[in-house]
Amino acid sequence: MNMNEKTDMNPLAEQVLDRIRRQEDLLRCYISYDIEAVRKQAASVEKKIKDGEFRSPFAGIPYAVKDNLCTAGIRTTCGSKMLEHFVPAYDAAVVEKMKAAGAVLIGKTNMDEFAFGSSTETSFFGPTRNPADLSRTPGGSSGGSAAAVASGEAVMALGTDTGGSVRQPASHCGVVGTKPTYGVISRWGLIAYASSMDTVGTLTRSVEDAATLLDVLVGEDERDSTSLPHPRPGFREILNSDVRSLRIGIPADLIDAGVSDPVASSLETAAKALKEAGAIVERFEIGLADYLVPTYYLIAMAEASSNLERFDGVKYGYRTADPASLSDLYQKSRAEAFGEEVKRRIMLGTYVLSSGFYDEYYLKALKVRRLIKETYDRAFCKFDCILTPTAPTTSPLLGEKPDPISVYESDLFTVSANLTGCPAISVPWSRDEKGLPIGIQLMADVFCEGTMLRAANALETLREVRFYE
Ligand code: GLN
Repeated sequence: MNMNEKTDMNPLAEQVLDRIRRQEDLLRCYISYDIEAVRKQAASVEKKIKDGEFRSPFAGIPYAVKDNLCTAGIRTTCGSKMLEHFVPAYDAAVVEKMKAAGAVLIGKTNMDEFAFGSSTETSFFGPTRNPADLSRTPGGSSGGSAAAVASGEAVMALGTDTGGSVRQPASHCGVVGTKPTYGVISRWGLIAYASSMDTVGTLTRSVEDAATLLDVLVGEDERDSTSLPHPRPGFREILNSDVRSLRIGIPADLIDAGVSDPVASSLETAAKALKEAGAIVERFEIGLADYLVPTYYLIAMAEASSNLERFDGVKYGYRTADPASLSDLYQKSRAEAFGEEVKRRIMLGTYVLSSGFYDEYYLKALKVRRLIKETYDRAFCKFDCILTPTAPTTSPLLGEKPDPISVYESDLFTVSANLTGCPAISVPWSRDEKGLPIGIQLMADVFCEGTMLRAANALETLREVRFYE
């Protein structure tokens, strides 16, 4: 079938496929997509909508899925050579839910290898480009999902957020990135990075879409032992933009740790706008600012090294040719199929978990995590939301940040939501002098998505810079 030929798809699916046809070679949002399969899927969903079989707001909506979420019969690579040819036999819980809602899966999006990174540049399949500026990264690790939504190559997308991987690319691409409370969306079928922090999140063009999508995705799942029911679901229904008397805190010590000038002034204008809309906005000291990034990376790498043990060349994934022995098989398979950043994290993670260092590093990090949680619990007694930038700078140039430590440090504002399990959202607010998007982050206490989405919706309503029609 000719790509330009019309079928009985809905116009939105046609439009998305047209964008893919025109831009995808340049942007590289997707690792896998199949135009023919999408056409068939869209036509069959369309028929079911007409027959009254699908009533969800997502019936017929084209969406994308990050390539670390399993899709039955569609390869799921995690951005790695290790899983280049891995085709799962089942759908992740979130993919099941989207299917049941009648959403049309466009394809699997590019990501940093095993979700380790902040730029999508560690992908085995090469980087994605930022639609706002092709010489820049879309952020990461869910960079493909964010770029797909920003460029119209999907209407919405699923991503995952372990330390900011939904919110930071959302900020760099100018879309809304939402990470809900840990546990309220099932992780079943998500290829694990750091299980105590991994959260499925959403990338959308509006806060309203985020609220509607969360309503579909949230729900307890007995296949995920950390899954929790949400005590106050129904986000779309209660969504408004009334921030009168809402208490919003700005952690001054975190901001002072260093943000670029355009990001600092963006935060200021956002705070001012919220204040004028009736919110009570105050600066405060959160404390422990120096400990957030080290604690996150220690725990994330420890868990990652343990989670990645399963890729041994035996059960599934890449296997080296002609190994001399079993241990040679393990070593060569892993050495040949993992990229540099993955190896770095496995080595560091193994180190902090090894006897002699376990108490000194890993156990200590767990204790500091506890202190961080208590610090945020106290902050949420005083404030409904915590307001910060999402990232300290706008999107870097491709290849600009080779030093891993500086990349890790750029996660300063996002990791606390993962260490504490709290929900957080990035809303596009302004642009720097080059026109690059700047996102503002709102974080709320666990299960307080409703309040967070309300404040986010207010920001969207108050913003003066245009992102989408
Ligand atoms: N940049 C962070 C990291 O590399 C976050 C990644 C993520 O959330 N998956 O760990």
